[in-house]
Amino acid sequence: MLIERTGPDSSPGYMLGLMPMVDPVIDELGVRPAYLDRSTALARFRFRSHTGRLVREDPLGDLMARYGDYRGISRGDLLDVLSSAGGSVSYQTSVAAIRQDQEQVTASLRSPSGEHEVTVEAIVAADGLHSQTRSLILDEDAVEVVDTGWGGWVAWADADDETDLGEELWGAGFFVGSYPVLGHLGVILCGPADLTRQGSAALIAQVRRQIDHPEGRVAAVLDAIAAADDRYYWALTDCRASTWSMDRVVMLGDAAAGFLPTAGIGAGMALESALALTKELTRTGARDIPDALRRYEDLQRPRVEAAQDNSRLLARLVFRRNRFVATLRDLIMARVSAKVALGPIHKLLADVPETTAA
Ligand SMILES: Cc1cc2nc3c(=O)[nH]c(=O)nc-3n(C[C@H](O)[C@H](O)[C@H](O)COP(=O)(O)OP(=O)(O)OC[C@H]3O[C@@H](n4cnc5c(N)ncnc54)[C@H](O)[C@@H]3O)c2cc1C
Repeated sequence: MLIERTGPDSSPGYMLGLMPMVDPVIDELGVRPAYLDRSTALARFRFRSHTGRLVREDPLGDLMARYGDYRGISRGDLLDVLSSAGGSVSYQTSVAAIRQDQEQVTASLRSPSGEHEVTVEAIVAADGLHSQTRSLILDEDAVEVVDTGWGGWVAWADADDETDLGEELWGAGFFVGSYPVLGHLGVILCGPADLTRQGSAALIAQVRRQIDHPEGRVAAVLDAIAAADDRYYWALTDCRASTWSMDRVVMLGDAAAGFLPTAGIGAGMALESALALTKELTRTGARDIPDALRRYEDLQRPRVEAAQDNSRLLARLVFRRNRFVATLRDLIMARVSAKVALGPIHKLLADVPETTAA
């Protein structure tokens, strides 16, 4: 039984770059043709200095190739691809209460038609960074939160000729990113919350003051954010639960460890964990489910937290407003390749546990 709070026609969401750890999931579901059809290859990554100067371009696709695909896809297309293998969803429904004993777990489900109870063998809470289900089983102080003090707007722009290129500009007091998906560019503009509170126009004006004549991707991002009426504001915070499983209830994805978007890996790790959890559950009888959930946590938590550490480290590097620090960072970035910057992620990709390997 799959429960989703929103309706079936919710928005396509934002852009995702999916690293090779999702490949075993795609193959397990038998949806590779649909995945390739609805996504685009991410071959290159371009980095710009805080003044907009081109610092480096790395062949990210080649660097990932020995592990598998690196592809851009919208969240809506990804959900379509994953669900093309079948299955039904109860929309506009969420879990209002949980009680469990040794044998089973009972959830009160709330939907527009009222509240009713279901009794099941296990509940997987995969309801994102601000998981309500998590708050039913864990105290607030069991969840560590990193607040970068920054936030940003996400929107869509038209695709350009460089459909395989992701680009980032790490400014002094702003961040401009653009990432291709099929037929579009997903764009993001971030800044410190005291500035974003004044609205996107104030942040765009700040970028224009610091970069003479923004052009190419940077101009496209600023124009798209200024024009979009469906842009979405993200407060750049994350979370890390101190434990993932409580008897027959377990957390998965951002509900367990919610990612900052800086390393572009949260969805990849969520999918990898989903497969690890599925494999543990399919070889376990109903009575031993709590043990299976603990084994899943033992296997995945160190991997997910290592990836999350990488995202947090990058956030400390990216979300800076001091120009001297930004200049120093530009000099370092000119020498540090994407391969080195993503070192811990390469280690995760090289070290896939047997249970989740294709
Ligand atoms: C701007 C941005 C860019 C990103 N870029 C990348 C990237 O390039 N690559 C990458 O790998 N990751 C990226 N991430 C991170 C990635 O989006 C998340 O890590 C990933 O979506 C987590 O998946 P999830 O299924 O755990 O949670 P979500 O994707 O948040 O899904 C949770 C689902 O639960 C539903 N829900 C919420 N509350 C309830 C409730 N109470 N009851 C029932 N349903 C509920 C929601 O409607 C939603 O459908 C990015 C994130 C952002 C914000």
